[in-house]
Formats: sequence, C-alpha cells, structure tokens
Amino acid sequence: MANIKQEFLNSISEILPSHLSLEEFVHYNSQPLRPSIRINTLKIDCDTFIGRMTAKGWHFEAIPWCPQGYWLTRDDESVQLGNTLEHLAGLFYIQEASSMMPPYVMASLIDPPDTLLDMAAAPGSKTTQLAAWMDNRGLLMANEYSSTRLKGLHANLSRMGVANTVLTHFDAQVFGHTLPETFDAILLDAPCSGEGTLRKDPDALSNWSLAAVESIAEVQRGLIESGFHALKPGGVMVYSTCTLSRQENQEVCLHLKTLFGDAIEFVDLSSLFTDASKAVTPEGFLHIWPQIYDSEGFFVAALRKTASVASEHRPPRLGRFPFTRASRKQQEALSGHLEATFGLSLPEGTLMARDKELWLFPHGCDQFIPAIRMQRLGVKLAEEAKHGFKVSHESLMLLGADAGKAVEINDDEAVTYLMGRDLPRDNGANNKGEVLVRWQGVPLGLAKWVGNKLKNSLPRELVRDNVAKV
Ligand code: SAM
Repeated sequence: MANIKQEFLNSISEILPSHLSLEEFVHYNSQPLRPSIRINTLKIDCDTFIGRMTAKGWHFEAIPWCPQGYWLTRDDESVQLGNTLEHLAGLFYIQEASSMMPPYVMASLIDPPDTLLDMAAAPGSKTTQLAAWMDNRGLLMANEYSSTRLKGLHANLSRMGVANTVLTHFDAQVFGHTLPETFDAILLDAPCSGEGTLRKDPDALSNWSLAAVESIAEVQRGLIESGFHALKPGGVMVYSTCTLSRQENQEVCLHLKTLFGDAIEFVDLSSLFTDASKAVTPEGFLHIWPQIYDSEGFFVAALRKTASVASEHRPPRLGRFPFTRASRKQQEALSGHLEATFGLSLPEGTLMARDKELWLFPHGCDQFIPAIRMQRLGVKLAEEAKHGFKVSHESLMLLGADAGKAVEINDDEAVTYLMGRDLPRDNGANNKGEVLVRWQGVPLGLAKWVGNKLKNSLPRELVRDNVAKV
C-alpha cells in the first residue's frame, strides 16, 4: 500500500480534472500495476513471439498506443519475467505501458529520422523502442548523466541487439550549445519527481515536497531549452515524464513557448489512439492519470520547431580521437575470420580501429566526431589476437542470428549456459575452437570446444543465478 502524504494529495486535488475523483486516484495507486512487455522486433516479429508464448500459457492484451506492447497475464507466474530465457535473449523488454507512449508519439509524427537524440536515456526502455522503430538505421545518440546507469543502458542495448547508437555521458544541458540545430528528432524523457510511479514503488514519494518539485522543474526547464536549441528547424521533440504536477509538465512546455513563441507548434495528441482524448489537456498534451488507462501516471507532449532560433555555439574541447579507419588488410582479415568461424559476412558500415580493437560505427556518426565527446560509438566487433581475432559477445548478439555456423541448444542447455556453466556435448567430430551458441535461432553468446564439452565464454557480468524456462 502506497504511503501517500496529505500534502501530495492536496496538490493533486488542485489539478485533478473535474471528471476524475481523488478517491479513484488513491484507489488505483494502491493496486499493483498490470505487467506489460514490449516485443523486440529487432529480434523477433510479434506474431511469432505471441504464437510461441501463447502455447506456454501467456495471454496478451494489446496496448492501444504501442503495436509491439502488450499487457501480459500468465497461467504460471512463479517465474519472474526478468529470469525467463526469452527476456535474457532480448526477445522482449519489460516496460510499463504508459512509458511506451513517447516513442509511439514520435513514430506517429515522422518517418524514422537520420539523427535522433535521447537526452536522458537510461535504463533504455525508450532508446531500445526507438532503435527498433528505426530498424537499427540512422544514428541514435543516447545520453545519460549517471555513470552507473550508463552501464545498465549499455547492457540493455546489447541484450536487445541495438546497433545504431552512440552513447554520451553529459548533463544534457550541454546539447543546446554543443550541437545547435543538429537533430531531426529529440526525446526528452526528463528526470522528474516520479509522482506517477507509486504503483511500482510505494515509497516513491518518501522525499516528495513542493520545494523538490519546484527544484526539479527548474532542471527540466533547462533541459527542454537545451533540447530545443539542439533540434533542427522542422524537427520534432517529444517531452515526457512519469510525474503528474503541472509545474513539471504543462508549465515546462509553456515556459518553452514563452521563450520561443512562434518557433514552436504544439502537436495535438487527442487522436493519437482510441480514447486518447480521455487524457488530453487543452494544449493537446496527454496527462495520464493512473485511473484513466489503469497504468502509471505519465505525461507526454510533442512539439515541432517551425523556425530556426538564435543559438550560441560553444564547441567543446576534445582530446585526440582514438580511432582511425581500419586498413584494408584488417578489414579483410576480420572478414575472413568471421566467415570461416561463424559463416558471417562483415556487416556494412564503417570499420574503425583503436589499438587492436575493431569497431563498427553507425552510419552518420562522422559529423559528430569533431563536435562532441562520445563515450561509446557503435559496436566493438573484435580484438586482434595472436592467431586471428577474439570476437566480442556484443557483436554476436547483434549479428549472430544470420550466422551460417552455430551450435543450436535446447531450453535446458540455454538455462545452463546463461547460468555460466559448461555444456556437456558429444564431440565425435572432434570440433575445436570458438562457436556461437544459439537458442531457437537467437544468439546467446560464445563457447569453446574442449573435448566433449562446450566451455562457457559468457561475459561474467551477464552470468545469472536465476534463469528459468517457461
Ligand atoms: N528514458 C529512460 C527510459 O525510458 O528507460 C528513463 C529516463 S529517467 C526518467 C531520467 C534519467 O535522466 C535518469 O536515468 C537520470 O539519471 C537521468 N538524468 C538526471 N539528470 C540528468 C541530466 N541533467 N542530464 C541527463 N540525464 C539526466
């Protein structure tokens, strides 16, 4: 049961629309959230996934604002969703339904863009959703201020097979003056006071106060201004939070309008999906109270930048860029190794070298190299070793579904493998060397033949204590 402060309830009752009641608000906040997932179309199509899991007693109810999103009930709920093979293999992302709305809003307004900035990206639910919409094409810059959360973001991008990202690690206030009028589209899923998240975490508001709301609203105003400067004229920006106060939502957007007037056009979201009008504000934003769609509380606004605005450009001081283009010899050697070992062709893209490492940069990142410091660009494919290459886990998660050579393992073996253990296997053919391990056609990682077993090469940080087949 959520611990709801009276002062918070007073602030809510002041802004609750007249057709909604405070009693219902409190009631919904004391109910558990309906579990929801988003199927990762970078790895599997929705029909195949639903068909496979329905046979195992999962029941799917479509979420109206996300074609890949479903509320889920299961005949047997004893296994935590996060421990299932399907989750660990990146076939789906556990994501609250309302949090699927901002990328959907963006997708409803534009075609997948060449350049997209996700200003506050960790742990990556929306970045991975955006990457799936972009079908891993174009360039998706995912920024996160917190270094610990940046690691989680990277792990999620890898698990979900995302290839078109560069990661940056800044206070997102820098984008406006570092990369003015650069991006076709921007998502600002802002840090917020989390007033909508009580159903997930009953203690979410233990530090809540009006002063804290005002203080975070000031941060949000700075971030939205920065984002607006970084947006190209003609571009689209989506602003979202998982909070309910006007200060952090409507007023942040209206603040921008006050600053930039006619250069901003708010998009009316009232017909985004059936029943969207139940949550729409007079400005056309969606203010999602938990009782409207039986979800978390959420807020989404979208705007177009209709004209260029004067922006200060402060180029950053950059150190030496540590990558150079890979030589033809390196490219041919890696290509030969991938073909011989995994039956894989080297993917298209720019192959770059840093010492012994070979990386695949996403298309379109060249323009950013002299413009901003990036934490991680694209995907590390392999490292040159004494005899050939050490191919990275991440690259096989990305490319491994197309590999012509792999060892296919069954459900029980997949559980054993993801728990970091070796797999006993008949090796009559005296196979040697590294192999890709795949489960139901989905790459899980690397192993090495040692006699009659496949020695586990899963990176340590991915080894799990609890893995279960459904
Ligand atoms: N978009 C994420 C998702 O869908 O998984 C959730 C983002 S969460 C609402 C906000 C994030 O902003 C947090 O990870 C937080 O660490 C980060 N953050 C806080 N202050 C920031 C700042 N000044 N610049 C960039 N990110 C910031």
